[in-house]
Amino acid sequence: MLPRNEMIEMLKSQGAAIPEVKAAAAGPAPQAGEGQVLCRRCGKLAPKLPGPPMRNDFGRLVFENTCTACWREAIGMGTK
Ligand SMILES: [Zn+2]
Repeated sequence: MLPRNEMIEMLKSQGAAIPEVKAAAAGPAPQAGEGQVLCRRCGKLAPKLPGPPMRNDFGRLVFENTCTACWREAIGMGTK
């Protein structure tokens, strides 16, 4: 007879909840902080652009969804 089981049985008989180690639930989705953007390209929280690179909807879209590093990379690829 294992003492641990004995204790569990005793707790059960008293109607006490058996303490369980719950697996840490997946934390909340990462929230972009100040100056950060959840980049759609690299999927990371990364520094966002200082501002929309273009004064149109596309510029705003890039600003809201692309980090600085990815944008620079995209620019570099586009101008090569
Ligand atoms: Zn990125």
